[in-house]
Amino acid sequence: MRTLQEYLQMIENLGRNIRNGQGAPHKPCLLLAIIQLIEQGDIFENKIRLSNHLKDAFARYVAQIPGRWNPRNILDPFYRLKNEGFWYLNPNAGYARQLDNLMRSNRIPSSPRQFHRLVDYAYFDEPLFIFLTQPDNREIVRQAIIERYFPDNRQPVEDVVKTEHEIGVHRQLLIQGVAEHPFFYSAASEPKNPIRGAAFRREIMRIYNYTCAVCRLRVDTIDGKSITVTDAAHIIPFNESHSDDIRNGISLCKLHHWVFDRGLISVDERYRVKVSRLIDEEGPAEWRLSNLHNEAVLLPEHERLYPAQEALAWHRGNVLRQ
Ligand SMILES: [Zn+2]
Repeated sequence: MRTLQEYLQMIENLGRNIRNGQGAPHKPCLLLAIIQLIEQGDIFENKIRLSNHLKDAFARYVAQIPGRWNPRNILDPFYRLKNEGFWYLNPNAGYARQLDNLMRSNRIPSSPRQFHRLVDYAYFDEPLFIFLTQPDNREIVRQAIIERYFPDNRQPVEDVVKTEHEIGVHRQLLIQGVAEHPFFYSAASEPKNPIRGAAFRREIMRIYNYTCAVCRLRVDTIDGKSITVTDAAHIIPFNESHSDDIRNGISLCKLHHWVFDRGLISVDERYRVKVSRLIDEEGPAEWRLSNLHNEAVLLPEHERLYPAQEALAWHRGNVLRQ
């Protein structure tokens, strides 16, 4: 069984492409992103999935590193870490041989679709994963990565670590809030808290899996830009409710966020889309709002995280145009 020191040596000697004397940041950024997700409890077992959450975290670290790293592709490091001796890819059922052939030929999956067809998850050497679940050892690994790979960008990378930590704390508070008290809001003015706002956004994205609750649109990209396609919408606008309660949130694509905020659609007490009677529209049938009427909205897995009835009623009463 390897010691932490031995793993550190492996992590400090990652194979990387070198361009203009600069080593590619992808593998170390991916490790920093995974460490962050373990710290925040998003990864709690030794099964690392190429989730949107991980893509987002990865993109935030890569963005701190100057240089035109194109593409800012997470598939590549996620796949190629297998050459480092502590990271393995677990195939989907029935795809072991295909994945094996691909790995033997030293090629990488040609598209995200092929990747997800072949690979279910990746996993660390078990002792390394256990080290990463231990706060002190996790910090040693994180510092070693920053020291070794980002000595010139130490500050911005550590700023991401710090901000993400604060957002993680606020996410916990928002989750606790749901467990501890029913949804309420007060008109009392409370200033926007950008960290709490970011925590609200992350949590909504997570529980709706980056999917529009109205039309189910989800656009995945390999560089973490899915974050621009769906929004964490406040049901009672923040200016009115001053509430980042998770039950005041719903995940919507840009179009449906826009029409929701302007009262062209709302959600009824049975969680179905309600379309304003005032609209008149033309265009392809699949794009028309009126076709969404009475369609069930996508809901989070846990009922306690559903949009609050009180918030939906407020939206119907004050925003929906009818
Ligand atoms: Zn939508």
